[in-house]
Amino acid sequence: MSCGRIVMGIWNYIKNSGRFNAACYTLEWVGSLPGKRESRRMDTAYLLSQEDVLRHTDFADGGFYGGWYMDFHPAEGIGSDEDNCTQIPVNVYAVPLRCLYHADFPNLLFAGRNIGTRREAFVSTRVMNTCGLSGQAAAALAWGCLRWGKSPATLAPEEVERIRQTLLREDMFLPGLSNQDPEDLARDAAVTASSRYQPEEGPAAGWFSLEQGGFVACPCPDEPRGRFLVRADAPATLQAVWHCCPLPSRLCPGQPAGEQSWRLTAGENWLDALFPSQAQGQYGMLVFDPAPGVSLALAERRAPGILCGRADAPEYRDSLFLPGKNSFYAPENVVDGCSRVWRQPHLWCSAPEAAPWLELRWDTPRTFDTILLYLDPELSMEIPSSRTDHWEDHHKFAARKGMPPQLMRDVSVQALTENGWRTVACCTGNRRRLLELSAGEAVTATALRLVCEKTWGDERAHLFEVRVYRQHR
Ligand SMILES: Cc1cc2nc3c(=O)[nH]c(=O)nc-3n(C[C@H](O)[C@H](O)[C@H](O)COP(=O)(O)OP(=O)(O)OC[C@H]3O[C@@H](n4cnc5c(N)ncnc54)[C@H](O)[C@@H]3O)c2cc1C
Repeated sequence: MSCGRIVMGIWNYIKNSGRFNAACYTLEWVGSLPGKRESRRMDTAYLLSQEDVLRHTDFADGGFYGGWYMDFHPAEGIGSDEDNCTQIPVNVYAVPLRCLYHADFPNLLFAGRNIGTRREAFVSTRVMNTCGLSGQAAAALAWGCLRWGKSPATLAPEEVERIRQTLLREDMFLPGLSNQDPEDLARDAAVTASSRYQPEEGPAAGWFSLEQGGFVACPCPDEPRGRFLVRADAPATLQAVWHCCPLPSRLCPGQPAGEQSWRLTAGENWLDALFPSQAQGQYGMLVFDPAPGVSLALAERRAPGILCGRADAPEYRDSLFLPGKNSFYAPENVVDGCSRVWRQPHLWCSAPEAAPWLELRWDTPRTFDTILLYLDPELSMEIPSSRTDHWEDHHKFAARKGMPPQLMRDVSVQALTENGWRTVACCTGNRRRLLELSAGEAVTATALRLVCEKTWGDERAHLFEVRVYRQHR
């Protein structure tokens, strides 16, 4: 069937079925050269491969990331007898800036669908979210080329690194890269806070059935063990396989790393989880075999970065999993250079309290005018990148209702100047993940205190990173 006939058939349905209120619409334009998916390849300085997507190649010029399934459709199109769609889940992977240019065309950048990849990588990179990120990376690359008066292929490694640091500052995630920006004054501040959250033993706030299996994912604590509560209707054996990965997903738990099993008595059982040595410095994920009559206890509050769920359901729950000694939510995490969950939670989370605060303090006064806050809009929630109401169950992403409760809403910043403490910036009704606060003038201070007056629902403050700059001179 030709593409033209498919397009006209769909248009006929939209206009004439009476279901879309489109009877008075006209079709203005249809591409006359339908380029079938995967029928063109852009030949860039580097072609991203299947190996890069599945093995997470660590590129020195990684400029953005992907994470959608390798999502194959048959070459014959919708008339094919093959399955319409074969999806191989992948973890987050980096895409190098070299996929955005070719040395022979110094004034041309690629972005979106037409970046340089091999077919097996293209079927993952071509989704709208990844296309959007490639646009941000291309813009930063263009900025670098203009700044140093060079073509993309002739940029020096330190210039590429500067572009990557600029992307990081603008909240791009670059797997494994941390903030090294020498202009960020927060990096050499001592950090303290009003409190720090610690998951505590308590009664279950609910139960999550392991009848069809399930998982618990937790970053490996300093003391590589944890405790969790299960309930069994009758004596049973619970079995699980450990997996390790920098950031596991429900469909891609990472490398298998041994098994663990427990004998359960009828009723409630606190169990020890012993992280395997391979989990050190990354996530451990316990993937449970189906266990009829056994349920995992749920926590009253979310412990950021610790989740449970099932592979076939895109909804995560809050596991009552108590990690061993750890620094998961310590205040100093806000200057550890990483602004997302990756191997560790990398955030400060306060205890539940009124107006939690975090303080940066320097030995000598610093002059600044801008504060950047990298907040928590509940990054572990899976966001749909398509309308999939009629798709498979594991595709039915939950729609976000309202604002994420963890996100800071009303924030004020106070500075300790030679005249004492004074408020230098504030924001009410924030809806952004990256919140830029301007003091409106240069402020010289030895300490800076960020007060979370209100969130969109949580009684705790969540903050991944703080940066402090003097932007205007
Ligand atoms: C049928 C289908 C279903 C899809 N489903 C999903 C999905 O569910 N989820 C998902 O994330 N992705 C999906 N994708 C993939 C995704 O939508 C595309 O890969 C992505 O939108 C491409 O973005 P882009 O900006 O690179 O290109 P485009 O969105 O194609 O934008 C290119 C623009 O350039 C314009 N243009 C072209 N030539 C010129 C010119 N000479 N001068 C000026 N303008 C010009 C075009 O009109 C167009 O507006 C789907 C794609 C298709 C075709």
